[in-house]
Amino acid sequence: MVILLNVQYLNNFNPSIVKVKGESAPEGGGGTSMSMISVTLPDGSVNEYASGITAGEIVIDIEGRKHDCIAALVDGQQKDFSSTLDSDCSVEGISGFTDDGIHILRHSAAHLLAQAVTSLYPNAKPTIGPAIDRGFYYDFADLEEFGESELKVVQKKMHEIARRNLTVERVKCTDSELNELFSANPYKIEIINDKLEDGAGSTIYRQGDWYDLCLGPHVHSTAKLMHVRLTSVSSAFWRGDQSRERLTRIYGIVEPTKDALKATMSAIEEAKKRDHRKLGKDLQLFHVDEDVGQGLILWTPRGAVVRTCLQDFISEHLKRQGYHQVYTPHIGKLDLYRKSGHFPYYQDSQYPPLVEKDMMAKLSDEGCTCGELSNMMAAGDIEGYMLKPMNCPHHIKIYASQARSYRDLPLRLAEFGTVYRWEQSGEISGLTRVRGFTQDDAHLFVTEDQIANEVLGCIELVQVIFEALGMSDYRVRVGLRDPDSSKYVGASEKWDLAEDACRQAASSLDVNWSEEPGEAAFYGPKIDFVVKDVIGREWQLGTVQVDYNLPERFDLQYKGSDGEMHRPVMIHRAPFGSMERFCGVLIEHFAGKFPTWLAPTQVHVLTISEKQVEYGREVAAKLKAAGIRADLDDGDHTIGKKIRMHRKFQPAYMLILGDDETENNTVSIRARNGDQRAGVEFNLFLDELLNEINTKKAIPSLVPAKEE
Ligand SMILES: [Zn+2]
Ligand SMILES: [Zn+2]
Repeated sequence: MVILLNVQYLNNFNPSIVKVKGESAPEGGGGTSMSMISVTLPDGSVNEYASGITAGEIVIDIEGRKHDCIAALVDGQQKDFSSTLDSDCSVEGISGFTDDGIHILRHSAAHLLAQAVTSLYPNAKPTIGPAIDRGFYYDFADLEEFGESELKVVQKKMHEIARRNLTVERVKCTDSELNELFSANPYKIEIINDKLEDGAGSTIYRQGDWYDLCLGPHVHSTAKLMHVRLTSVSSAFWRGDQSRERLTRIYGIVEPTKDALKATMSAIEEAKKRDHRKLGKDLQLFHVDEDVGQGLILWTPRGAVVRTCLQDFISEHLKRQGYHQVYTPHIGKLDLYRKSGHFPYYQDSQYPPLVEKDMMAKLSDEGCTCGELSNMMAAGDIEGYMLKPMNCPHHIKIYASQARSYRDLPLRLAEFGTVYRWEQSGEISGLTRVRGFTQDDAHLFVTEDQIANEVLGCIELVQVIFEALGMSDYRVRVGLRDPDSSKYVGASEKWDLAEDACRQAASSLDVNWSEEPGEAAFYGPKIDFVVKDVIGREWQLGTVQVDYNLPERFDLQYKGSDGEMHRPVMIHRAPFGSMERFCGVLIEHFAGKFPTWLAPTQVHVLTISEKQVEYGREVAAKLKAAGIRADLDDGDHTIGKKIRMHRKFQPAYMLILGDDETENNTVSIRARNGDQRAGVEFNLFLDELLNEINTKKAIPSLVPAKEE
């Protein structure tokens, strides 16, 4: 049972590391007696096996030799195929096609990447290499001047190692062994010192002459990692800290089969084409300017059209649902956020406070340092203002500005409110991670009896909007308490009611939903919306949160029908998150080809020659008079060139005007895919267009699709 590790590759370091087959194998060698264990299989049947059998052998017994599993679930815990079993348990295989399976594949591929990099670049030091949403990455120190062109070589090396079919082994190590094994890599040593409990040791995984600090589990052989591709290189900081070493991050993807890899690669290509940062530039929708600041979005006229149309659409439905629009300023006193708990608790994710002018002059005369100033603010010794990180405190003050009775409730206050957060500069990206954004925010002040109905209303709003945008595939996550935690505020019975209300709301509608214990905020349960776009990517948008905490902190009240004072419950909801993020998602969802009602320009009028200039101007003027966003090109370019030039703006339609059209007062309609519908009477076109816009059709359909 006890095998000495071959340690030649460890620079003559010869520790007494033992390879323990399975975590529970007895120290110092197993006995010889053959006992049996009962193993429950996925179908519920129970088989007897000799004690000491590996999880992998049982998976083969269940699934046959041609299974697609890469690890095993033993009593619900993920284990390597090599773990030995010596007591009764349940076993099932983890397929490489499941979420758990693909995670193990990705993490295993990260090891393979580090092995390939260090064999090609012996000075490179692997730091961390996790599995992520769509693949994996590994961060390397001392890997300078590594660019996209180097990826091919590393990828070739990875395939070569994968083909060698190296066994991936789990090896237990003591603290001193770990320190010696990784002595040449200060990053791993830092992890060992910071993350591992003193004296507890840990495990390494080794394949061939390479090993990494890791808890596993992993695939049992590098041959499982053949379908791997490296996708990009970027830079990162050690531990995400800009004051620490700059690292080279290499990204890759891995799949269980060749076909799956092919599908993923084409999805990545498609995603690249749809990248809202690229399309935002091509379509002139927004701009970020270094002189204004990172993560601060400048909405250009064409992008502002999209945002305004969306806001108007949402506002229409808010009105229908009985919301009241309010406006509040962008800053508020520090004391307000002390009361709400946003300061100093969330200080790190906020812009630093603003000090009042007179106070600033006085402190500066006294020679006060920045550090002292910051401490005084945190301690509440001096007053200041903050850029608002949330709209809630402002809305609460509107609620509290009048005596409220049960007749006023539910009171629904809505605002497209702009808030500011201090995102790390490395995290900032396009419209989806920004430092200033406008939430589609609202706060509902309700009685406990009204929670269920109001949560339902919030979900209904989301359904209506998603449907209009052709986003029919979405799911709802209901975040509940962690039954074992005591961090939650509010009475347990109230929580039961609120959680039930969220559950009921989610289940009463025709959507996929799941309960997620432990995902509630400390002040109440919540509902998240996760939408799938047309190419199958999931985006988490906004939330609906029930809150018992803030009404308490601000001592909010209403007079009940019994004449007594009661505490309202608050519901925070920003179902689309922010206008920035939502528009970013929509740009990618539509690949810049917005539905007619949202398109920055709806119709581009193109004349074929100078003979149609007058008619072209007449058509464009009539369209504008009817409220259509129209653009006219009556210039000298050939019609072919005009079409190419205007196509990049993705109008819903182009109108091509030649002699026939001019003579008969008609238009030739050109759809985005190039299909045309000729000789349409102008007034008929205008009627159909207005109808398409007013009914908010998700797909422009004035030109019927050509028969195949
Ligand atoms: Zn690992
Ligand atoms: Zn809020």
